[in-house]
Amino acid sequence: MRNNLKSLYELQEIDLRIDGLDSERGQLISEAQALEAKLAEAREKIAARREEASALEADKAGLEASLAAETENIARSESNLKEIKTQKEYQAVSKEISGAKKLIAELEDQILQKIAAMEEISADIAKKQADLSELEGNVTLQQGEVQVRVESLQAGIAADVANREQTVKGLPASVMKRYARLRDQRRGVAVVEAKEGNCMGCNMHLPPQLYNTLFRADDVITCPHCQRILVMRQEAAGQ
Ligand SMILES: [Zn+2]
Repeated sequence: MRNNLKSLYELQEIDLRIDGLDSERGQLISEAQALEAKLAEAREKIAARREEASALEADKAGLEASLAAETENIARSESNLKEIKTQKEYQAVSKEISGAKKLIAELEDQILQKIAAMEEISADIAKKQADLSELEGNVTLQQGEVQVRVESLQAGIAADVANREQTVKGLPASVMKRYARLRDQRRGVAVVEAKEGNCMGCNMHLPPQLYNTLFRADDVITCPHCQRILVMRQEAAGQ
């Protein structure tokens, strides 16, 4: 059993290291994803502004068409004026013309407003585009760094996984099953040291008799409080 306990302790150390590397890698990957999301958000904002600009452009085109139609109306009315015989007709056409002119002035005003709004949006788009380019540059740099770190973590994990396979080989299936179950239930820590009469997993005091049996270590002994597998330090050191 001594060898088993030593292997189990080693296995626990390897697994904790893999867990640590894994979570570091996970964190880096989610950081990279957050950067991607930031880029996507900036791009979406620009696209939304562009849509606003094209809506304004369409509005402006509509107003310009109305303006052209009104201008034509005036020209037609003005040429009609020449053929008018009565005062009453003259007044009616004159009224039409002045109404159309008023409308034209309003349309021109609205067109100017659209142009001003379009200019504002276009300046905003240019600014957002410049910010985005800067962000893209930064993100590319950061992603590159993340990539390097992830690869190195990956290499560390691969080395530990190979190591783990070797360590697991010597352990009975029943012990491995127990170990795996404990890891699931105890946030990854299945094997802990027993030190100065205490379990280092839950920091509870171990019954002296149980503690004494640990020195013999004939069997897998578990903590009565947290159920983790206990090892003595000399077991871990392989003495
Ligand atoms: Zn315990």
